[in-house]
Amino acid sequence: MQGHIFMAQCAAEQTRDPRLKALLAAHPKSLVNGAFFPDSGYTAADHDQGEIAHWEQYVDGYIQLVRERHKTPSSAPEAAPHIAFMMGIGAHGITDSTFDTLLYARSEQVDRANMDPFDMAMDIFLVADMPRYFLPEYAFDAATLSLVYDRVPHKVPAANITKAMEIARSGIGAVTTFLHTSADTYGKMFPWARSHLRDSRTPGAYPFGARVVARYYEEIFRRLEGDTSADKVLIGSYPDPEYPLLTLDPKRADGQVVLFFGHGLDRATINGNTFVLRDGAGGVVPSKVSIFRGDKWPNVITLRPDASWLPDTKYVVTVTRGLRTLNGTSPSSDIQLSFQTCTPVSPGGDCAEPPAPAPGPSPCPVTENQYKKRPGTEEPPPEPAPSPPPSAAAPSAPQSSSCAASPRLGHDPASALAALLVLPFALGARRLRREVDAHRR
Ligand SMILES: [Zn+2]
Repeated sequence: MQGHIFMAQCAAEQTRDPRLKALLAAHPKSLVNGAFFPDSGYTAADHDQGEIAHWEQYVDGYIQLVRERHKTPSSAPEAAPHIAFMMGIGAHGITDSTFDTLLYARSEQVDRANMDPFDMAMDIFLVADMPRYFLPEYAFDAATLSLVYDRVPHKVPAANITKAMEIARSGIGAVTTFLHTSADTYGKMFPWARSHLRDSRTPGAYPFGARVVARYYEEIFRRLEGDTSADKVLIGSYPDPEYPLLTLDPKRADGQVVLFFGHGLDRATINGNTFVLRDGAGGVVPSKVSIFRGDKWPNVITLRPDASWLPDTKYVVTVTRGLRTLNGTSPSSDIQLSFQTCTPVSPGGDCAEPPAPAPGPSPCPVTENQYKKRPGTEEPPPEPAPSPPPSAAAPSAPQSSSCAASPRLGHDPASALAALLVLPFALGARRLRREVDAHRR
């Protein structure tokens, strides 16, 4: 969850639409609450409370609800925290896919460890290695989130949402406050993942995910404004000009093509006719087109050739106008993505492994430089502030409104330890998704 929050923030810094950028900067708490909200649902007895919130049906339900409430959502002040929250939800969902298709899958092949504690280990690395001691304050509207579930439809009472958010935040607090000390233990299990997690050249790592999210934000914002065009629906891919294909072996995680979409896609239009792989001479290359997870409206497609990639060869992936989104629209022209394969070290072999990651410029320096102090060890403010007048009601529980003040739950050892008891269930839910994927493969 810490990783999802990081990518949501890093993407907000990279968004090109100035109005959206200003909106996200004005509602940072709503954004980060949205970014851990989908996994909070996995702490509930109802597994679907978590699963549903990961996908386009929920994101689109939220878009439509806000559009019904506000004539021009992008300029309505009351809509702004909801927009920031739904961007956080979108960021979470798509980065589970950028991460799991590429980084998790590659770690599984390289690190060859027991993958059960993988997600928690990644958050531990982020806290220990950046270091990033971040604990979100509450900002969510449980009543509205419950209404969005109704649209799926799936009944989730507001009280269950509040409870799940409290448990999830405690879990983030447990990692941030205590568990980061086990970074080296997990580092022995996942040395490749630990050294590549923040690398801006590694497909599926945090910088890759954040870049896809920044484009997803822009698509969600367009949809909020009533633009149903599918012309910018492809929001990211591997490979792309900044992330060249690293191997000729299509069985490797980094030997597949992965396409990320900013709208849910109509499953009936996803097939070998809408996703076509061709070689440089224009010949169709036999390949397998697969949907990565998703609900009624998936948004991630993978493509693997049946045989090895040819060395130093140009390939073109075409997404044809036969593709249809949940808005019932198709791209007005075919979308094409071309790339060149690598050259093997010796004839008949594979390409060289990229050199070990070296620190490069951060795509999001503001995000990178925040939260370096452990909670409770922050410097006191330079000048004592005058005492405020006694307030009528101290904040005691998460309120059903955005940007609400919060108790510092994660700082409290008792609640953090309570969260430790719940974390395995939440992580177990993620494992369940991956086992379903493995079964499908
Ligand atoms: Zn998730």
